[in-house]
Amino acid sequence: MAADAERKYIRYEVDERVGVITLARPEKANAQNEVFLDELDACFDLAAASRDVRVIVLRAEGKHFSAGHDLKVDDEQPKLANDDGSWWLSELYDWECRKYLGFGLKWRNIPKPTIAAVQGKCIAGALNLIWPMDLIIAADNATFSDPVVALGACGVEYHGHTWEFGARKAKEMLFTGRAMTAQEAEQIGMVNRVVPLEELWPNAMALAHEISQFHPFALRQAKRAVNQTLDVMGQHAALQSAFDIHHTTHGNAISVSGYPVLASLDDMKGRLKDQ
Ligand code: ZN
Repeated sequence: MAADAERKYIRYEVDERVGVITLARPEKANAQNEVFLDELDACFDLAAASRDVRVIVLRAEGKHFSAGHDLKVDDEQPKLANDDGSWWLSELYDWECRKYLGFGLKWRNIPKPTIAAVQGKCIAGALNLIWPMDLIIAADNATFSDPVVALGACGVEYHGHTWEFGARKAKEMLFTGRAMTAQEAEQIGMVNRVVPLEELWPNAMALAHEISQFHPFALRQAKRAVNQTLDVMGQHAALQSAFDIHHTTHGNAISVSGYPVLASLDDMKGRLKDQ
C-alpha cells in the first residue's frame, strides 16, 4: 500500500480507532478519474484490513464533496475508444462494472461501519461514493443531484436513487436534474443528520468515536443484518439490473453520436447553471 506521499488524490490516516479517508483533489472539486478511484479503493482496503480501525470516515477537502466523474481523457484514464475516436461499449461496460458498480458494492459491504461527511455539491458520480456508506452526515450547505439525464443517461451507475428516496422522489430527481438540499435529504431519510458546516468534521469524528466503543463483531453483524435485509428485498439484484439499464443509454448515445453521452459537458453546465 502506497504511503500518503505516494498517492496523488487520496489521503489516509488513523485517529484512535477511526480510519479517515480524505478526497484530496479540491482544485478539481474532487472529480474522480481512474487514479483517484484506485487510490480510494486502496485506502478502503487498508482501513478494512487494519485491526486498529473499527470505523471508517470518508470526507472531502475543499468547498465541494465531489463533482462526480472526471470526463477528461488523459493518461490517468483508460483508453476505451478506437483510434478514430469511436467507442467500444464492451470496454466501457467492463470498466464501469469494475470501477463504479464494483467498487460501490465492495465498499457497501466492508465489514465495519462507514460514515460519509459531505459538504457543498455532491453531483452524479459523487453519489456512487456516498450511497455505499452506512451513515451520511451533511453540512447545511450540502446539495445532492444527479443531472445526467441532460447527458442522455438515465442516472449514475450505482442506482441508489429508488432505495434512498422512494420511487416518486427518485423520479423527480432524475427527470428534473434538480439538486436536493441537505434539509430535504434529511427529511426523506437519505442523510442521518444535518449540521452547520463548521461542525461537520467534529460531528462526524464524534459519531465515529462513539460507534468505535462497541464490539467490532457486533457492529459487523448489525451492518450485515441490515444489508442482508436490503438484499433479500432485492437491492443487490436491482443495483445490477439498473447498471445494465444505464448501459443501454450509453449504447444509445454511442449509436447516435459516437460518444457515450449525448450532450457535451458545457451544454449540461449551461442547462444547470441556475441550480
Ligand atoms: Zn456510465
